[in-house]
Amino acid sequence: MGCKVVADCECGFKTPKIKLGGGMYCHTTVNNFPNYCKNCKSLFMANMYDEIIVCINCKSSDTVPYNNTFAVKNLDETSFNWEDLKLSSENSLCPQCDQFSLKFKNVGMWD
Ligand SMILES: [Zn+2]
Ligand SMILES: [Zn+2]
Repeated sequence: MGCKVVADCECGFKTPKIKLGGGMYCHTTVNNFPNYCKNCKSLFMANMYDEIIVCINCKSSDTVPYNNTFAVKNLDETSFNWEDLKLSSENSLCPQCDQFSLKFKNVGMWD
């Protein structure tokens, strides 16, 4: 199931609408998910089926997905939850202000 989310933070950081998953069904081969680049401190989308995830901005492979405890404080409250791919609606790491105050919000389905 594809979902759209946006992420925003009280510091003013905001992403455009992010398409998650791989279209109408879960079990397709493309699986977009937000990742955090430790090298250039940015949020980018990656295909989680790729063996090595590389930052689209700086080409670093020093990246973590947003369900990794480096990039999220906890996953008690989620706005996206599919298998082990989860996004916090409360406390993800903001690439702009370095605080765990980035919130992912589910803004609907897509196909
Ligand atoms: Zn980067
Ligand atoms: Zn912020």
